[in-house]
Amino acid sequence: MKKYKMTEEHKKKIGLANKGKIITEEHKRKISKTLTGKPQPWNEGKNHFNWKGNKNLGYQSKHNRIRLKYGEPNYCEICGKTDKKKYEWSNKDHKYSLKKEDWQRLCSSCHKKYDIEYNNTRVNQYDK
Ligand SMILES: [Zn+2]
Repeated sequence: MKKYKMTEEHKKKIGLANKGKIITEEHKRKISKTLTGKPQPWNEGKNHFNWKGNKNLGYQSKHNRIRLKYGEPNYCEICGKTDKKKYEWSNKDHKYSLKKEDWQRLCSSCHKKYDIEYNNTRVNQYDK
């Protein structure tokens, strides 16, 4: 990986970018690097490797948005466990609104069960 030095030239370009000028992919990457570690609510989903043009983007970015807005889930609302490796935001009706009451925190296994039982989820629903 190349090391990135913040030159005056770049600072100027970033400044312009923030005023609404067109920003290149390269710069986006560099800017997001310099911001790593800080909360970036304005950068929704961009840290995700899928953020440009992947067909899962719709599904992923909504989940990312919820995570950025309401934090990383750390317990399961169905089984109540707090010691699982991974928790996910689950959308109750799969309309993916950004209202918090439409979302619940679930562990992976309850999430899967919930989706199959209540939403009749098939894998290809995530391909939109
Ligand atoms: Zn659970």
